[in-house]
Amino acid sequence: MKILVLNCGSSSVRYQVFGMSDERVMAKGVVEKIGLPDATLTHRPTGRDKVEIVTSIPDHATAISMMADALTHPEYGIVESLDQIDIVGHRIVHGGAHFIGAAMIDEQVIAELERLTELAPLHNPPSLAGIHACEEAIPGVPMVAVFDTAFHQTMEPEAYLYPLPYEMYERHGIRRFGFHGTSNKYITSRVEDILKTPAADLKIINCHLGNGCSITAIQGGKSVNTSMGFTPLEGLMMGTRCGDVDPAVVAYIMRKENWDAHEASECMNKRSGLLGVSGVSNDLRNVIEEAEKGHMRSQLAIDMFCKSIVRYIGAYMAEMNGVDVIVLTAGVGENSPLIREKVCRHLEFAGVEFDSEENKINGKEHAITKPGSKVKVMVIPTNEELMIAREAKTLLEKRHVAID
Ligand code: AMP
Repeated sequence: MKILVLNCGSSSVRYQVFGMSDERVMAKGVVEKIGLPDATLTHRPTGRDKVEIVTSIPDHATAISMMADALTHPEYGIVESLDQIDIVGHRIVHGGAHFIGAAMIDEQVIAELERLTELAPLHNPPSLAGIHACEEAIPGVPMVAVFDTAFHQTMEPEAYLYPLPYEMYERHGIRRFGFHGTSNKYITSRVEDILKTPAADLKIINCHLGNGCSITAIQGGKSVNTSMGFTPLEGLMMGTRCGDVDPAVVAYIMRKENWDAHEASECMNKRSGLLGVSGVSNDLRNVIEEAEKGHMRSQLAIDMFCKSIVRYIGAYMAEMNGVDVIVLTAGVGENSPLIREKVCRHLEFAGVEFDSEENKINGKEHAITKPGSKVKVMVIPTNEELMIAREAKTLLEKRHVAID
C-alpha cells in the first residue's frame, strides 16, 4: 500500500509518500512560495539526489500538478502512474467539534470543511484547495482528512469551555479546540512502545515546541487539557504568537493604536512571541545566538518562553494529580539542549532528576533524566506525516472490510 500525505499551507504544499509495508518514506518534497514568480518545488526521492525546480506557481492546483509530475517522472519519480497511490491523507488544522477522528473525504465532509473555514480562515482554505487539486490531478483515488483538533475531542466541558456567558458557546461555538493533535497521538503511541506500558496507565505531558507551541495533558491515552484554544493563538509564547495575554490588553491596544480587529490579530499572531520581545527573530536559534552575545531582549525572550512552558507543565501536573512522563518534541524540543535544561531545572521539585550528559544528544528518542528519576523526561521526535499515513491506512482497510 502506498500513501501520499499532504500538508497544504497558505503558500506551501508539503508531501510525503509512504510504502506502508514497512512505513518507509519513498519520497518527500515541498512546494514553497506559491503565488510568487520564484516559487520552488524541492523533490527528494529517497536514496537519490534531490531535484529543485524554480518557476512561477500561481496556485495550489499548479503546485499539486507539479508534485504529481515529480512523483511520476521517469528519472526521479517513484511510481509509474498515480493510480499506484492507494489513498491520500490530508492534514486539516481545524475539524471543529464535528470531527472526533479522521474521515473519508466525500461531499458532506467538504461541505463541513467549508463551513469551518470561518473558524480557521488561515488554515482550512489551503487544505480545501489541496483537496480540490487532488480531485483533478489524481481522480478516483480516495482521500482522508486527518484533523489537528480531533485528538482533543476527549476533553471534558470543564476543560474546553471558557468562563464567558454560556450563550457564547451555544450561539457561536466558542470553546477550546486544541491543535497539534496528530503529533500528540503519535507521541502517545511512541511512549507506550518505548516504556512498554499502555497509555491507559500513564499520565503524559507532551510539549510540542516548534514554530507553534502547545502543551497537552494526556491521561489514560486521552487529551484532558491543552494550551491552544479556540485558535492556535492561546497558550504558550511562540515564534511570532503571543499566547496568553490579559484579554483586556487587546481592546486597550486597539484604542491606543487606532487598530481594527484585523490589525490587532495580525500583531498578536505575526509580530509577537520570540520575535516581538527579542526584536530579532522568530527562530529560536537566532534569538539564542544574540542572547549569547549579550543582547538583553533576546535573553528576556528566552526566559519568558521557558517560564511559559514551566507554567503549563506545572498546571497540568496539578490537574492530573501527578505525571509519569514529560515529552519534549518538535523543532525546539528535539534540538535545543538549552531550553530543555532550563525547563527541567524548574521541575526538580516534582522529582525530575535531570541528566546533563543525555541532554547533549539531539534529534533521537531518549530520556534526559537519570534512570531512577520519579518523573521521566523524554525527547521524542514527532512524525505527524507518518501518523496521518497510519490513520489513512486504518480508514482504507475499514472501508475495504465494509465493501467486502
Ligand atoms: P518546527 O515548527 O517543529 O519545524 O520547529 C521550528 C523551530 O525549531 C525553529 O523556528 C527553531 O526556532 C527551532 N529550532 C530548530 N533547531 C533548533 C536548534 N538547534 N536550537 C534551537 N532551536 C531550534
